[in-house]
Amino acid sequence: MSTNDEFECAIVGGGPAGLSAALVLGRARRRTILLDGEKPRNRVTKHSHGYLTRDGVTPAEFRELAHEELRKYPTLEYRHDIVVSVRKDGDRFCLSAKSGRGFSARKIILATGLAETLPGIPELASYYGKSLFSCPYCDGYEMRDRPLAVISDDPYKAAHMAQTLSQWSRDVLVCTNGHGLSPDLRSFLRDNDIPYQESAILSLEGEKGDLQAIRFADGTETARTGGIVIADWAQAANLHLELGCKLTEAGGIETDEACRTSVEGVFAAGDAAIVAPAQLIVAAAEGSRAAIGVNSDLTHESFHPPIPHFSK
Ligand SMILES: Cc1cc2nc3c(=O)[nH]c(=O)nc-3n(C[C@H](O)[C@H](O)[C@H](O)COP(=O)(O)OP(=O)(O)OC[C@H]3O[C@@H](n4cnc5c(N)ncnc54)[C@H](O)[C@@H]3O)c2cc1C
Repeated sequence: MSTNDEFECAIVGGGPAGLSAALVLGRARRRTILLDGEKPRNRVTKHSHGYLTRDGVTPAEFRELAHEELRKYPTLEYRHDIVVSVRKDGDRFCLSAKSGRGFSARKIILATGLAETLPGIPELASYYGKSLFSCPYCDGYEMRDRPLAVISDDPYKAAHMAQTLSQWSRDVLVCTNGHGLSPDLRSFLRDNDIPYQESAILSLEGEKGDLQAIRFADGTETARTGGIVIADWAQAANLHLELGCKLTEAGGIETDEACRTSVEGVFAAGDAAIVAPAQLIVAAAEGSRAAIGVNSDLTHESFHPPIPHFSK
């Protein structure tokens, strides 16, 4: 464990992206601090799927297993803390945490993830992660062949998701929550035998997060036992704004092939840099890539003069 608050790398965010970056940097013997608010995007779900060798693991178990591995590496330090601001001071970054502590590092990896806003439907949050999910690749298999709903305020996204979800169930109802479908989308759904309901959702019926039915403002009710909700996503933290990192059109932090952002010394990985239906394994892979980028740049910077380019 490091004994002072100066590090070679500070990783902000300890979901799969940040944890995986920490593992690679610990193994590269880099003095690294991992700061985590401990609110990963999938915290509402009971089980995570699709991560090879960890299919069906709970989010808490996944985290504990990762921390157990990280504890083996003496140059790593972990803190449950939230970074509230960051600024560049010469060739170092100064981070201030909610606890009042300060940290300084030569490189930063932003692995802060995304925050979701669900459609404004009463009680929706209590079903999210239990019977209504965000992505068919994560939870579609467990809902296979059941009567499902796709809930979205965006008719195009709803129709597109219904098409995707058809691989897991042919009984999918598109619910646009009071938003009208275009004539083209209506005929697409009719032509493909996908039912739809444009009326606003009045309530979700069920117990302890297990959906049983959906009630609509037009007085109808339909039995549904699960489905996909399309949320809006935004960056979970604002540190990239303070640092001046460029964003992609989709709102992800723009990165190159080594996860470097547009600001020298700042790297980004995981959902924060992807902003698309992401997965634990993809976030972890990006964390590894960012850590290798950090280690390569630190190594490169420590040799003078720089290694000559190979020439034939
Ligand atoms: C309901 C649901 C179910 C899902 N199920 C699956 C599944 O089964 N399989 C799958 O592969 N994927 C699943 N996902 C997707 C998966 O959760 C994400 O892709 C993954 O968590 C992204 O990892 P990440 O490390 O980028 O971000 P996150 O896991 O979101 O972690 C980000 C971390 O950064 C911390 N943080 C943010 N800001 C700060 C700050 N300023 N200071 C310190 N810490 C900060 C947060 O507290 C959090 O711990 C699911 C998502 C949802 C919503």
